[in-house]
Amino acid sequence: MATDASSKPPNLWRRIPLWQKILAGLLLGALTGALMGEKAALFKPLGDIFINAIRMLIVPLVFSTLVVGITAMRDPQKMGRIGLRTVALYLITTAFAIGIGLLASTLFQPGVGLDMSFEASQEAKEAPSLVEILVGLVPSNPIDALANGNILQIIVFAIGLGISLTLIGDKGEPVVRLFESFAEAMYKLTNIVMAFAPFGVFGLIAYVSGSYGLEVLLPLAKVIGVAYLASLVHVLVVYSGLLAFLGRLNPLRYLQGIIDALVVAYSSASSSGTLPVSIRCAQQNLGVSNGVAGFVLPVGATINMDGTAIYQGVVAVFIAQLVGVDLSLADYGMIVLTGTLASIGTAGVPGAGLIMLSIVMSQVGLPLEAIAVIAGIDRILDMARTCVNVAGDLMVTTLVGKSEGELDERVYNATAKQ
Ligand code: ASP
Repeated sequence: MATDASSKPPNLWRRIPLWQKILAGLLLGALTGALMGEKAALFKPLGDIFINAIRMLIVPLVFSTLVVGITAMRDPQKMGRIGLRTVALYLITTAFAIGIGLLASTLFQPGVGLDMSFEASQEAKEAPSLVEILVGLVPSNPIDALANGNILQIIVFAIGLGISLTLIGDKGEPVVRLFESFAEAMYKLTNIVMAFAPFGVFGLIAYVSGSYGLEVLLPLAKVIGVAYLASLVHVLVVYSGLLAFLGRLNPLRYLQGIIDALVVAYSSASSSGTLPVSIRCAQQNLGVSNGVAGFVLPVGATINMDGTAIYQGVVAVFIAQLVGVDLSLADYGMIVLTGTLASIGTAGVPGAGLIMLSIVMSQVGLPLEAIAVIAGIDRILDMARTCVNVAGDLMVTTLVGKSEGELDERVYNATAKQ
């Protein structure tokens, strides 16, 4: 009897699917923040502990998953194909994203009739050149890359190591087994950290919702609405459409399978920070193989920022309307081009998109000071764009997995039961 009674609470807690608990944490957090206002900062440490714990996983998880995935694939040509498909899909979806952002702002005109003053001056950032990016991909010291969490360099080293381990055959076996065992332990640790997600998400959202009063949000409600709407359209129309038509997959399963990652992305505003959760969703809920998930997702968390691209489009047009500048067709073209490049160069950390916005603005001759108008509410926009960034990475991962026969459709279609 006594054992029965004591085992009841954990059983009930365990019976609720994780995504429902995380979603409940989000809603309760928003409510708590709204009620307590700035005092809700009290819960911020809960969120910070959670974010630190996920970030702790990034480097070892990405490195081991990728080495294991590549040795399991045993085919360098296949790796090359996966790389090309990944980059092509990332670029195409980003161009769509910025187009949708431009269209939404042009249609709904969030900046027309708004009277806001701005003073703070901003410096324009320089976009890195292609050669600089290429040279920077190769780590001169892999330990340094691991220590600093330079994901692209880690990927390059892991691919090299994985291919070499395959080429040396039997001699590579002990190291491969070591990495397999290490990767398993990292998956386990990810699950353990994720069990804490409902509380972490609660803490993060309570803090954010407590620190933004309506007086800051209301004047900019229209541009926030337009950015959120464009984000939603991109995920529901472009991503779902590509999954259905190119992948012949049910998009609802995809949306269901990525909820954990979306909520963590929304509350943390960091797609790099969400990476371990995305890898877990791809493997456990969508049925993508370790090799594809371990390669496509970290690359995406570094270069694929569709949400940021949407935001660049929406905000550039918004600011043009605000300051009364008429954009020409050439300006729109310039926004698409620089917005795509700026989104690729955006780091997956909170607020990075706001800094990159200066590249787009300076290219079309908009006053950089106007960025100050948006800076006050940027976190709210950042949360939405990070969700799209993460959703895009997971969509491309699913499509690439499907096209390479690296997607277990039994797992994908079973998402509903999770
Ligand atoms: N916070 C975004 C992300 O991590 C980047 C951005 O600021 O646009 O994906």
